[in-house]
Amino acid sequence: MNERERSPIPDGVWIQCGDCGEAIFAREFERTGKVCPHCGRHDALSAAERAAYVLDEFDADEHLSGPLHAVGEIDSFPAALAVIDAESAEVSSGKLFHSVAELAGLLKPLIVFAANGTGAGEESAEPRLRLARALKQLGNERLPYILVVTDGSEEDGYRAFLPPGDIVLAETSRPKPPDNPLESAHPHIDNFLTRHELSETLPKLLAFFRQRRSGDGTRPN
Ligand SMILES: [Zn+2]
Repeated sequence: MNERERSPIPDGVWIQCGDCGEAIFAREFERTGKVCPHCGRHDALSAAERAAYVLDEFDADEHLSGPLHAVGEIDSFPAALAVIDAESAEVSSGKLFHSVAELAGLLKPLIVFAANGTGAGEESAEPRLRLARALKQLGNERLPYILVVTDGSEEDGYRAFLPPGDIVLAETSRPKPPDNPLESAHPHIDNFLTRHELSETLPKLLAFFRQRRSGDGTRPN
């Protein structure tokens, strides 16, 4: 609520990593997207922090509550972001589907970050159909839908009721499969990436999809 400044952290402030106990310069911690430079622990990002980390520019003042929508650029590639953080993860599936469908309707490359537990609660056909239609329209425009499932506490396993995207990525600081609990919980995951790897991968994917879109649409692939 009071995030009127992008970087309100004064010089000389240190925090301590919750895993390795090492001291981290707070500005550095912000720059790395809350990843410990010593042990690689990924602290949870709020929706606004996520948008600020991923987008070239983000004004936190525009965000109120619920699944965050942010339209901006990632390395100058336009993108529409929906960010479902731990706080908004308890929103009903119906509301989530409506929310993502609305964003897909902007007809921009769509990236959905979904926290653990996303889409808890009641399930109904109408929002699911609306989202399916919106995603189909996006696909007809040869625009990508990228789903990023984010690490967190997966005590009860990962629950994402969102439909899988053209690409499904998992952000995780944990070992890659077969040790990662996200794998069995979400069979559609194409790749497991750290937060830093993810920030390097997203612009490459957006470049790929843009090139595919501007290419000759009649080619078989
Ligand atoms: Zn650490």
